[in-house]
Amino acid sequence: MSADTKNKSLYDFDVSDVSQLIGENIDAVIVVDPSIDAYKTIVRRGMFENFLKESGIYHDLILDLWFHFNDSNEKVSGDYQIFADNTGVFKSKYSRRLKLFLENDEKPHLVQLTVYPFDDATKYIFILDEFVDSESLQESLTSKKINTIQGSYLFSMYIDLVQDTTSSINVTEISDDVVNYNLKYSDWRMMIVNMIWPEDQEQFLLHTDPEYLKKNFTPGRTSSYDCMMRNLEGNYIWVKLIFSRAQTYNEEDYRFVFMVQDNHESSMEILSTLQKYEEMAIKDPLTGVFNHGEIESQFNSALSFCQKNDIPVSVMMLDLDHFKSVNDNYGHSIGDKTLKHFAKILMDFSAEKETLVGRWGGEEFIIVCRGKNSAQALEMAEVLREKVSAELFPDICQITCSIGVTELKKDDTFLEAFNRIDKAVYQSKDKGRNIVTLL
Ligand code: GH3
Ligand code: MG
Ligand code: MG
Repeated sequence: MSADTKNKSLYDFDVSDVSQLIGENIDAVIVVDPSIDAYKTIVRRGMFENFLKESGIYHDLILDLWFHFNDSNEKVSGDYQIFADNTGVFKSKYSRRLKLFLENDEKPHLVQLTVYPFDDATKYIFILDEFVDSESLQESLTSKKINTIQGSYLFSMYIDLVQDTTSSINVTEISDDVVNYNLKYSDWRMMIVNMIWPEDQEQFLLHTDPEYLKKNFTPGRTSSYDCMMRNLEGNYIWVKLIFSRAQTYNEEDYRFVFMVQDNHESSMEILSTLQKYEEMAIKDPLTGVFNHGEIESQFNSALSFCQKNDIPVSVMMLDLDHFKSVNDNYGHSIGDKTLKHFAKILMDFSAEKETLVGRWGGEEFIIVCRGKNSAQALEMAEVLREKVSAELFPDICQITCSIGVTELKKDDTFLEAFNRIDKAVYQSKDKGRNIVTLL
């Protein structure tokens, strides 16, 4: 067949030669009927032998052409696939460069895609041609580097609130090209809200509400807020949503740029620092249980809880017996170690019984037991006393503790309740130590 054109003079070429040459040289040509969501392959060779079927579903093809991860042939999570419905609509000629990954291929195939709508844009011809020279690949790798720099912007779009339109979404994490949507802003909002962390959805709807945006953004104003949003892999990450109103001199003009910035790493760093500070503020540095301030406030809030509800609350105080002699005989650092070990027993016990433990000071600890009456608290204190006396402490072997227990009363002040357990501890000491007293 190609022999037909071989000896032909340039001036003898006609349109049938051209269509023949296209058939022989272009890698793939398909026709698409979006109304029945189908494509038929007219020409396919090279990488397209496997990529295109003889005929197939147009929607699936769009997902393959646009919506795979940058460096793999993996599909994006279901939520993002909704964008495919709006991507495969063409009103006029369109061309872009794609990076396609075939299964088991390490490197992407660089492909030029050109779309020709016909029959009043009810059907399309797709022409796909692979670049083979390394220069184009190099260019693609360079653009990938740039993408990595810009990569913190997951996507951006233009919004016109008056027309209720969106346009030119640039989904950098998905592709490096501008995708033209014919998506209404109001529809887009209701689509994207499903990707927002459920607790953040109300805030998102408030901040993206057209009336809110109109009211709160003077021309040129930019504002942002953070929330959690599902990424392409289906995991929630921290993002910054940025709205910026165009600076125009028409007060009736409500055009915005909207951007979603990936903020996850820095947000997680800040959160973990905050968490550390929060812990430092409420925990005893030596033992890791609540510090004096925190256990006192837990004591107080348990007291007002039991006064407002008909649920019992009991409190116990534990004081190590003859602890001074541990310091005297073994040294201060063994004393510290013993305190830590003792606190660990209390913490494990508290985690199991859902009680709160704190260090009142020195070798004195307090446990707040919500939902426990005096009998239950007494029983728990006995178990704990027994546990401590049976424990083999490193270096010192044995140590015991004296415990005071009380159930809070409706008319108790904090001081009255505290004095009762303090007194109960003294009575346990008086009776010979390693004893529980209920007052
Ligand atoms: P009792 O049975 O009557 O309670 O005797 P005790 O020796 O335990 O009581 P006392 O109040 O006389 O002594 C408490 C000791 O606890 C004194 C103090 O040196 C020690 N202590 C307090 N805080 C710490 C600490 O953080 N580390 C160490 N190693 N010792 C501490
Ligand atoms: Mg003491
Ligand atoms: Mg003591």
